Amino acid sequence: MARPVIAIVGRPNVGKSTVFNRIIGDRLAIVEDKPGITRDRLYGTGEWNGKAFSIIDTGGIEIDDDDEIMRSVRVQAELAIEEADVIIFMVDVKAGITHSDDEVAQMLFRSRKPVVLGVNKVDNDNRMNDVYEFYSLGFGEPIALSGSHGIGIGDLLDAATELLPVIEDDDYDEDVIRVALIGRPNVGKSSLVNALLGEDRVIVSNVAGTTRDAIDTPFEHEGQRYVLIDTAGMRKRGKVYESTEKYSVMRAMKAIERADVVLVLINGEEGIIEQDKHIAGYAHEAGKASIFVVNKWDVVEKDDRTMQEFTRNVREQFLFMTYAPIVFLSALTKSRLHKLLPVVNYVSEQHAMRIQTHLLNDIVSDAVAMTPPPSDKGKRLRINYVTQVSTKPPTIVCFVNDPQLMHFSYERYLENKIRAAFNFEGTPVRIYTRRKSEED
Ligand code: GDP
Ligand code: GDP
Repeated sequence: MARPVIAIVGRPNVGKSTVFNRIIGDRLAIVEDKPGITRDRLYGTGEWNGKAFSIIDTGGIEIDDDDEIMRSVRVQAELAIEEADVIIFMVDVKAGITHSDDEVAQMLFRSRKPVVLGVNKVDNDNRMNDVYEFYSLGFGEPIALSGSHGIGIGDLLDAATELLPVIEDDDYDEDVIRVALIGRPNVGKSSLVNALLGEDRVIVSNVAGTTRDAIDTPFEHEGQRYVLIDTAGMRKRGKVYESTEKYSVMRAMKAIERADVVLVLINGEEGIIEQDKHIAGYAHEAGKASIFVVNKWDVVEKDDRTMQEFTRNVREQFLFMTYAPIVFLSALTKSRLHKLLPVVNYVSEQHAMRIQTHLLNDIVSDAVAMTPPPSDKGKRLRINYVTQVSTKPPTIVCFVNDPQLMHFSYERYLENKIRAAFNFEGTPVRIYTRRKSEED
């Protein structure tokens, strides 16, 4: 469910990204070897003292119009104030309090957001005396850090997570499908929202979501209830925010977290660009059901092969999401729009599907009989037992003699066999390998 957000703010070179990387640790490395997922180190997730959170390194947000540094620091602070529940304000002990530190401090102070002050580059005890100077910024006790030595990170997280609010889960009924629309600016997100809601219909109730600024829009179609997640974010455009790719990604990320089904919009007229892959990658990693919606299909010059060719292109570009169905439509003319919601219903079911253990084991035994696992130094992987431990996304655990022997390629083979038997269309399937305990 929705995680509260921590943002790191401060001048360039105080060590924000160093500390950010310390906080997210090895987590980012996990999926890096999978094709098609490009990482930008702006947004991560973490857990501390049992509290899960998202964390943003605002230093990673490039401001397109290249004004002087102070302007960009100011904009980053604005973003943090708008998006974050807790702000880590970072300064540099070697530099002391600079004019721009003062300016950021005033902005943060006025925002009334909870702020934790981290004084970085305190690499040794000699520097400790200099830390107290930063009391004067007015954010209470400064926390001494050394990002490069990994000192003080625990204290920083203690202080920051202490201030995190508890975010209530959405209280939508189980049968309401939560849909997020994501995609780069101008791809047609707002137009598709309007098309789905019907032009004539006045939206009577905007339900305030759990996140301060998220506005969800409920609607019903053929007896199925839906809610469009964070449609306010789409309306609140303009200014500097939309101009930065990474900001849009951040916005999308928050909507994705709260959704069941993610519509990944692609501009049919312009084709696929790198940014589309970043955005889709987040939906994949978050374990959501996804559909590629190729919009603006009305303006594409077509013959009888165009759709097939576009499909092949999507498959090639999004190798990591071959499970996601593709719907071609026009939000503007509403042509083929009627095809979308049935697919939403379908992938939502697949995302929530639970396979009985004996059926799953039958399929896996057959798969193993057909292609036995490779052996490594004379030792062969033995799969004792397979079970689906959760849904949304379907998550399967394989109990084996030695998890080290499970290779990525064999896991992929099992996934393909499981999909061939049960489909799971539109949803990622997670497979974990665990050692079978000695007793059983
Ligand atoms: P950012 O611009 O605020 O994200 O800062 P970076 O994380 O890129 O760090 C800027 C520079 O400060 C780099 O050269 C880092 O190696 C260095 N740095 C970061 N943390 C520390 C630290 O704890 N001690 C020292 N001495 N240098 C640090
Ligand atoms: P958003 O930034 O993703 O919310 O995109 P908008 O919904 O604001 O659409 C951006 C522009 O694309 C607007 O001028 C729309 O009229 C246009 N547009 C949206 N969907 C379609 C479509 O299906 N066909 C055509 N031709 N134009 C579209």
